[in-house]
Amino acid sequence: MEPWTRGPTIGRGSSATVSIATAHGSDEIFAVKSAELSKSEFLQTEQQILSTLSSPSIIAYKGCSVSSEKGNLVYNLCMEYAPGGTLSDEVHRRGGWLKEAEIRSYTRQILIGLEYLHSHGIVHCDIKGHNVLVAGEGVVKIADLGCARRVDHEVSNADRKRPIAGTPVYMAPEVARGEEQGFAADLWALGCTVIEMATGKAPWADGSDPVSVLYQIGFLNGAPKIPCFMSKQAKDFLSKCLKRDPLERWSASELLSHGFIDESELFTEESGTCKMGSPTSVLDNGLWEWDTADEEELEKNPNPNPTHERSTSTFSALERIRRLSEGSTVTWSMRMDGWDLDEDWVTG
Ligand code: ATP
Repeated sequence: MEPWTRGPTIGRGSSATVSIATAHGSDEIFAVKSAELSKSEFLQTEQQILSTLSSPSIIAYKGCSVSSEKGNLVYNLCMEYAPGGTLSDEVHRRGGWLKEAEIRSYTRQILIGLEYLHSHGIVHCDIKGHNVLVAGEGVVKIADLGCARRVDHEVSNADRKRPIAGTPVYMAPEVARGEEQGFAADLWALGCTVIEMATGKAPWADGSDPVSVLYQIGFLNGAPKIPCFMSKQAKDFLSKCLKRDPLERWSASELLSHGFIDESELFTEESGTCKMGSPTSVLDNGLWEWDTADEEELEKNPNPNPTHERSTSTFSALERIRRLSEGSTVTWSMRMDGWDLDEDWVTG
C-alpha cells in the first residue's frame, strides 16, 4: 500500500490501538489499527476476513503493513475512518438513549451488514455498540472483526475448534454454555445492541462478574429485559432476536422483513409510562427464571457424572463455569470490555 503517516490515537481496544493516518501524496484520511507484531493474532485474523468483504454496512478495508516503530515491529490494519466514533459513544452523546426511528434505521443497517457476513459464511461473534461505528450522519457500519470466524463447510477443523469469543453480556445462551457460536448468536447480540440503543446500557446491566453473567445467560432461562417503553413492533422484533433456542431465533434475512425494520411497513410509536431501564441486579424480580431442576441437580451433584442421561453438555458447561469461578485453568478464551483475556484464562 501507499506510504502513510500516523496521526493521533483515536481509540484503544483490548488488542490494538487505533490512530488516524494520512496517505502520502493525497488528502485521504483513514484509520490504522495497530498491535505489536508478536501480539497481532486477532488483528491478522481481522485482516484476513475484512480484506475479502465489500458492503456499505461494513467498515471498508484499505490495506495492511508491518512498520518498525520505536524498535518494535508493528502490524497495521488500515481501514475506512468513521468520524462519529462508536455507536455506544453516539448513544452517550445523545443523553443515553436514541429515538425509536433512529434505532430502527441503525438496526436495519447493522442487519444488512450481518446478512452480508452470514451469506459469506462469516459469524461476527462480537456485535455490540462498541463495535458498530458511526461513519456519517445517520450512517453506521459494522467494525472489529477480530473475533469473527468462518463457519462454512470449507472451514478447517482447527478453525471449527477455535475457542468461543465475544463479550459476555452480549452472548447468546448457546455461546455462554460453550456449545456453539453460529450465525444465530449474532442476532441475539443484535437484540442486546438494540436494548443498548434504547437504554444506554448493555443488557444484564449488573455485568461486572462475567462468571455470574455467563451462568445467568446460559442456564437460567431468562432473556434480557425488553424495555417496556418501546413500541409493540420493536418488542416483537426483540422477542425474535432473543429466542433462547438458536433454531427458533430469526435469521438476518427474516429480521430484515420484520415490520420494525421493513421500510414499507407503517411505523407506529407506542409510548408507555413505565419506570425502566435494563435490569440493574440479578435479583430484579421476574428477570431470571431459575431452571430449578438444573439448580437442584447441580447442588445434589456438584461433580456431575459425564454419563448422566439428562444433559451431558449442560453439565460439562456448568462444570466449566463452576471451575472458572473456583480459579481453575480453562481453555476457553474470550475478550471482554476492559479485560485482556485473549489467552487461556488463569485465575486465582
Ligand atoms: P475490543 O476491545 O472491542 O476488541 P479492539 O482492540 O478490537 O477492541 P476496536 O474496537 O476495533 O479495537 O477499536 C478500538 C476503538 O478505536 C473503537 O472503540 C473506536 O473508538 C476506535 N475505532 C476503531 N476503528 C475505527 C475506525 N475505523 N474509525 C474510527 N474510530 C475507530
